[in-house]
Amino acid sequence: MNRFDFIRPTSLADAVAAGTSPGSVYLAAGTNLLDLMKIGVTRPERVIDISRLPGLDRIEWLPDGSVRIGALVRNSDLAYDKRFAAAYPAVAEALLSGASAQLRNAATVGGNLLQRTRCAYFQDTASACNRREPGSGCDALRGENRLHAVLGWTEQCIATHPSDFCVPLAALDAMVEIEGQDGRRELPIGALHRLPDAHGATESVLAPGDLITGLRLSESTAFAAHARYVKLRERTSYAFAIVSAAALLSMDGDRIKASRLALGGVAAKPWRASAAEAALVGQRATREAFERAATAALGDARPSGDNAFKITLAHRILVRALTLAHQGTPKVLPALPASPFPDPHSPAPKGDLHVA
Ligand code: SF4
Repeated sequence: MNRFDFIRPTSLADAVAAGTSPGSVYLAAGTNLLDLMKIGVTRPERVIDISRLPGLDRIEWLPDGSVRIGALVRNSDLAYDKRFAAAYPAVAEALLSGASAQLRNAATVGGNLLQRTRCAYFQDTASACNRREPGSGCDALRGENRLHAVLGWTEQCIATHPSDFCVPLAALDAMVEIEGQDGRRELPIGALHRLPDAHGATESVLAPGDLITGLRLSESTAFAAHARYVKLRERTSYAFAIVSAAALLSMDGDRIKASRLALGGVAAKPWRASAAEAALVGQRATREAFERAATAALGDARPSGDNAFKITLAHRILVRALTLAHQGTPKVLPALPASPFPDPHSPAPKGDLHVA
């Protein structure tokens, strides 16, 4: 039995002040943290329950058309918010492809961003793992590594980031709101997670006491009509991505005006495919253009073990996501169990995107 202090602050300032103490962790829904505590991977000295902090459970639409999502908004509540799903369909699709219905009902938006890797060696305290114990080594390098990273990895760590939600957020340049010792600040989600470097496997840029309070997405009507998230996994539900892709297109007739692309399951962070985006600008939306974009996206990919197949798979999933996005955000979508879109066998709704 590991002893720890448990506190429940009533204000953001008190939470951040408490969070600066060494060995402190924030607890929201606990869908990841409590599992890690039970198996001894995380042994906090102080657990700070933020689940009842006021004002962090709202979805707010701002006058400029952007949306602010409080860190304590539940994954399901966001995915099933009709206005949100219509404005950001790829994000809703990603949310609903994650975990199980029970977990989505409990898990929070802020916690989703900071969930830990599912590398089996990270979760096994008998294994060497730089991420769990800096400097101890990485048993995954010579172990079971078929699902590990193919982009941005080093000998320090070859783990992947497990979130679906973060993939379209990276494509859409979501801003992360953080409350810390020096007050409030924002940073793009692309700067939140860190890739491993020669010195270690630090997961994020957050400092002690930093607390994610929300997310902000700018207005995205340009991409809402052609947006998809496609996830490939080893079973149809309750499984992490082998690879996934978010593809959003802004079309001018048959020409691509702009695109937003990101890959999941390939690196220690959601992987923005900027070179692929550039390759698509001004192109006709053809299979050949999508193939060239996928080649550009994976130009730096290399296997970290027994996982060369993931490079091929990521290429194909990106082409697939682009193809589906070009066909248009569906009004009727059979793609996912628990989809926010109506049953494919019901009559197609008229007008705007229908959310069940
Ligand atoms: Fe740990 Fe990363 Fe190696 Fe997995 S891949 S054992 S998380 S250092």
